[in-house]
Amino acid sequence: MDQPRPVVTRFAPSPTGFLHLGHAYAALVAHDEARRAGGRFLLRIEDIDVGRCRPEFERAIIEDLQWLGLEWDGPMQRQSQNQMGYARALQELARLDVVYPCFCTRKEIREELKRSHAAPHGLDGMIYPGTCRVLGREVWRARLDAGEPHALRLDSFRAIAFAESERGGPFTWHDRHAGNVTCDPSPLGDVVLARKDVPNSYHLSVTVDDALQGVTLVTRGKDLFSATHIHRLLQALLGYEAPDYYHHKLITNEHGERLSKRDEAMTLRQMRAAGVTPDDIRETLGLVQA
Ligand code: GLU
Repeated sequence: MDQPRPVVTRFAPSPTGFLHLGHAYAALVAHDEARRAGGRFLLRIEDIDVGRCRPEFERAIIEDLQWLGLEWDGPMQRQSQNQMGYARALQELARLDVVYPCFCTRKEIREELKRSHAAPHGLDGMIYPGTCRVLGREVWRARLDAGEPHALRLDSFRAIAFAESERGGPFTWHDRHAGNVTCDPSPLGDVVLARKDVPNSYHLSVTVDDALQGVTLVTRGKDLFSATHIHRLLQALLGYEAPDYYHHKLITNEHGERLSKRDEAMTLRQMRAAGVTPDDIRETLGLVQA
């Protein structure tokens, strides 16, 4: 029988703002899960969105985590340092013929969705209607040759069909609360794998990095539950082992809304300045020390 893999978790913040109570919850859960299992806890800075990431936020993340009393194992990683890894994965997906160029602007996508009366879905509120998927190779080639700006999208139907026939599907993934979940990429559809402005995307980089860093337990908020279908599909296509998942609750403000950059009073710096201690934070979040 296979030996169980040692537990490896990660906290993967984007340095686009100060950490708030919701981030503290995510970081503490990842840390405590690793420590309880005698495993490893990693810190990965998700800084592919060059336009929005700032070094001062990265410095603040490190300071806030140290203040919380969290120590990570090994050196902190930055996604901006793994462009080669994402490029290789993208090349492999292109070789499998499950990727196509998309020339649409957000405005065009919105208008197309309005015309087709599609209900808004997806991570950023819309499922791509497949406009460029149906253009066909000749048109793709001509528009690429003309230098038109384009993103690369996963052809999710083709990808799941290919994975199931060639990679021994159907595929499932396991979530601590939801149990075994059958992989179904349709809730997010043809997601972007490489943006027009950045040669990768959240879905691609997070899947590649979790595999490369040997993460065995992905802990993150419930808001990313449907993204896991896409990540599981990418794992199947790229031959990665699937980690276990724990999509945890989201911390909300007094109006029951998920915390965001607007909830300034909930940033760890503000709380610290107001005299709150790391123990108070754990108590507020209902997390006992691992
Ligand atoms: N960087 C993502 C965020 O800040 C986390 C992604 C993940 O945990 O998969 O929301």
